[in-house]
Amino acid sequence: MAESLSTDVLILGGGIAGLWLNARLRQQGFATLLVEKASLGGEQSVKSQGIIHGGAKYALHGALTGASEAIADMPRRWREALAGSGELDLRGVRLLSDAHYLWSPGTLAGNLTSFFASKAVRGRVDQVKGDALPPALQHPKFKGKVYRLAELVLDVPSLITRLAELAGDSLLAGREVIPLRHDGQLAGLVIDGREVRAQRIVLSAGAGNQALLEALGLSQPAMQRRPLHMVMVKAPSLKPLYAHCLGGGPKPRVTVTSHPAADGQWVWYLGGDLAEADGVARNEAEQIAAAEQELRQLLPWIDLSAAQWATLRVDRAEPAQSGLVRPDNAFLAEQDRLLVGWPTKLALAPDFADRVLAAFERDGVRPAANPPLPALPRPTVAQPVWEELLG
Ligand code: FAD
Repeated sequence: MAESLSTDVLILGGGIAGLWLNARLRQQGFATLLVEKASLGGEQSVKSQGIIHGGAKYALHGALTGASEAIADMPRRWREALAGSGELDLRGVRLLSDAHYLWSPGTLAGNLTSFFASKAVRGRVDQVKGDALPPALQHPKFKGKVYRLAELVLDVPSLITRLAELAGDSLLAGREVIPLRHDGQLAGLVIDGREVRAQRIVLSAGAGNQALLEALGLSQPAMQRRPLHMVMVKAPSLKPLYAHCLGGGPKPRVTVTSHPAADGQWVWYLGGDLAEADGVARNEAEQIAAAEQELRQLLPWIDLSAAQWATLRVDRAEPAQSGLVRPDNAFLAEQDRLLVGWPTKLALAPDFADRVLAAFERDGVRPAANPPLPALPRPTVAQPVWEELLG
C-alpha cells in the first residue's frame, strides 16, 4: 500500500526560497515536508553571486521605487541572522565580504549623479581610497572612484548547508508529483507514490514552478525566464573583489564576486551586463574572449596567463511581467490551499517567507497534530558550481 504522510505545510523546491521558508515554519512549530527533485540549492541559488542587495544597484537606473522598502531592509536582516540574533540562526555561514563596492572606472562620475540623489542610497554609501580599496584594486595604476555599499556577500554553498541542517528530518528527495484531490479540492500531492496531505502547499521550485503548475492543471501565475551567460575565471594572481563596475549605461558593465576554491585560489564570477543579452548571444569561446578583454582593459596589471576559464548558462526564473522590469520584492500568488512564488532574488528569501507567513496568519493556518515522519530519502546539498566547472 502507498505510504501516507501528513504535515502542515508541504513545500516543493529546495532552493533558498523553500529552505528559508521551511526553517522559519519549523521554528514556529509547523510540521513541514520539503521536496527537492535534484540537489538542494543546485539551480539558481548556488549559481547566484551571493550578494545581499539593499537595492543600491537598482537605484542606478531609477527602478527603485517606493515599493522597494523590502529590499532596503535585507542587509540588516541577513546580518542579524548571521550573528545568531535574527529570525534564523545562520551562525557558521561564511561571510565572503562585509561590503559590496561600486566602482566607476575613469571619469564616469557623471553617471552617479542620479544614483547619489536617490533616497535608497543616501547615507549608505561611502567613498573609499588607498588601503581601504578592495585588494584587487590596490595598485598604483588603478584609476577611478570606488564607493562602499552597505551590502554583503555570502558563500551560498555554506548557506544552503546550514539551512539543510535547520531542516532536520523534513527533507524528501522526490521527482514525480501528482495532485491528490478530496471532494474536488487539492488535499495534498502524491510524491513518487507517497501520499502527502497538508493544510497548505507552497511551490517554491524556481523555474520548476511552471511544470508543477501544469501538473496541477493550472496556468497562472505565469513565469518568465531571464537567460544569463556568466563567466568564471580562476588564477593564482586573483585577489578578492566584490564590485559592480559601472559602464556608460544604467546597468553595471560587469559585476564581480570572488569565491574561494578548494585548491586555495580565488575564482572570480562575472555577471552584470557582460552576462546579459549580448553575452547570451555569444558562444562559450566568444564569451570568454569578451570577459578577458573586459578584465584586461579594466585591470591591466592582473596576470591572467595561468587563468582557467569557464562559462555557465543559467536562467533567472521570475513572475512574468511586462518589459522585463526587475522586481525588487518577492512575489507570491495564492489559490485556495496552494501558494506559488519566486523570491526574485536570493536576498529576498526573508521577504518571500514573510508573505507566506502573513497569508497563514490571515487564514488562521496553525500547527496541527501530525504523526512524526518516517525515515525518508534525503536530497543531497549542491556542490559549489566553480568546483564543478573549474575543479
Ligand atoms: P532555485 O534556487 O532555482 O531553487 C529551486 C529548486 O526547486 C531547485 O533546487 C530545483 O531542483 C527544485 N525543483 C524544481 N522543480 C521541482 C519539482 N518539480 N519538485 C521538487 N523540486 C523542484 N540574487 C541575489 O539576491 N543576489 C545575487 O547576487 C544574485 N546573483 C544571481 C546570479 C545569477 C547568475 C542568477 C541566475 C541569479 C542570481 N540571483 C541573485 C537570483 C537568485 O539566485 C534567485 O532569485 C534565487 O536563488 C531563487 O531561489 P529559488 O529558491 O526560488 O530557486
